[in-house]
Amino acid sequence: MLSRRQFIGGAASAITLGHYSSAVRLDAQVPAPGAGDLGLINGRIHTMDAASRVVSQVLIRNGRFAAVGNNVVRRGGGLRVVDLRGRTVIPGIIDAHNHIVLVGNRPGWHTPLEHVFMIPDAIAALKARATSAPAGEFITTVGPISAMQFNERRLPNLTELDAVGRPVYLQGAQGGTRTNSEGKAWLEARGVTVAADGAIAGPATGLALQTLRKTLLTPDTRKRGALDALSYYARLGITTHRDSGAFHADEPATGIASENTYTMHNPFYDLNREGRLPARLRIDFLHQDPATADPPLPTLAPRLRNSFPRFGNEWLKTGGIGEFTGGGIEGLRAIARAGWRGEDHALNLAGATNLIANRETVNREIPIKDLRWVLSHVPDFPVDLANRAHALGVGLLVGWGPLRTGTNVGPPYRMLFDHAIPVGFHSDGGDITVINPWLNFYTMITGRNLAGQPILGDQTLTRQETLWLATAANKWFIWEDDLGSIEAGNHADLAVLDRDYFTVPDEDIRRVASVLTIVGGKVAHNDGVVA
Ligand SMILES: [Zn+2]
Repeated sequence: MLSRRQFIGGAASAITLGHYSSAVRLDAQVPAPGAGDLGLINGRIHTMDAASRVVSQVLIRNGRFAAVGNNVVRRGGGLRVVDLRGRTVIPGIIDAHNHIVLVGNRPGWHTPLEHVFMIPDAIAALKARATSAPAGEFITTVGPISAMQFNERRLPNLTELDAVGRPVYLQGAQGGTRTNSEGKAWLEARGVTVAADGAIAGPATGLALQTLRKTLLTPDTRKRGALDALSYYARLGITTHRDSGAFHADEPATGIASENTYTMHNPFYDLNREGRLPARLRIDFLHQDPATADPPLPTLAPRLRNSFPRFGNEWLKTGGIGEFTGGGIEGLRAIARAGWRGEDHALNLAGATNLIANRETVNREIPIKDLRWVLSHVPDFPVDLANRAHALGVGLLVGWGPLRTGTNVGPPYRMLFDHAIPVGFHSDGGDITVINPWLNFYTMITGRNLAGQPILGDQTLTRQETLWLATAANKWFIWEDDLGSIEAGNHADLAVLDRDYFTVPDEDIRRVASVLTIVGGKVAHNDGVVA
């Protein structure tokens, strides 16, 4: 039997465009074109199917792939054809654990800057954003921005931000909060201490964010933010997000990872009802009941009684409990008894060992083997823990890397990839790190963080392996088999890339974006380059 490594790595290199044995058989099954059908031709379409086929054409009908191969698009019948002119196509990326719902609820005109690497480019992006915002309204970037991403190794300063022409507020994932002259005046008038150079530090940062939230957030701005956030990442090729929650706060909070976890999904629900979601959203519920609570499990127990796991439509569905289960081992027992998925993250070896031990205890009483429980982050996770997790039916999410520092900080990608345990990709981005999958892929492939420092030792993956983790491998983690690969019958989610991810120099992996993103057969992002 082939290992995962041999299977994924070997098949792709053996296949060249236009040469595979099943082409003729596929052609015989090609449906006649119909009005509303979309055909993509002349692509290098990496299907991420079980044989890692690379084909040149797909036919999309009623939101799904109707045919995939090298001669499956026949003109006529109202079929719309897009000539990809040799571009690389990948399945829509699945980020199996991030905090997109937090990102969609940021105050002001939140402007992700995860695709720029020089301060002048950041200022240009903020200025472009300002053209949409009325005078006096805040342009913000809260969370996924870091000094490390910029060649200058710092955040923009007050003078640079003044050029934006609107009040600006930047709060970096790894520290660093900055405003400009207009923002400084606004914040100081509301009691927030701002240094002369626009820096905000210590408790003033929490107060600044809380003040912006209290003053600027409305149901309408949240809805705009939700749409903008999903659209931004659709441009980077993400077509499915599994959101892993937030720390609950009834009122606007000081913490970057805090929101009202009972209302923060509302803007996404609204977009779903209106048929306007540009990407799929899977929602996990984060619970943090204290193990000592009396009565026990004050939030988790009602959740498990009154809601449904994996319930919704193809665009928006609930998932499980995570990325905290809460309630100690009683919480795990309740989740297992209810038949839900549970997820916790591990920040170090001691934490991971404890999580596994608790799951072993629960599993002896209530089998969890078929519930697809998840551990995420897993920076330090030796093979014996992987063996124990695998025996429990637990899967591991890896990623969470481009802003980390140190040497051999993990996760041990290579070891885990070669292990039999289910492994998938998550960015965990939105508050403490970036969501941009290409920054994560860059780190997984080169072993370097965004400052170019080696952090993974020999635990790197190939480009094919990395993309596989973020597409087909994540079927397991979202518990849906008809996403994550380009195969007949699957949802038609794909990204046409602006450059060939498989052959560009390492440094350019960070710069990959989509020129055309299709989700469920609908255009979610289009640069106008190919269509
Ligand atoms: Zn997380």
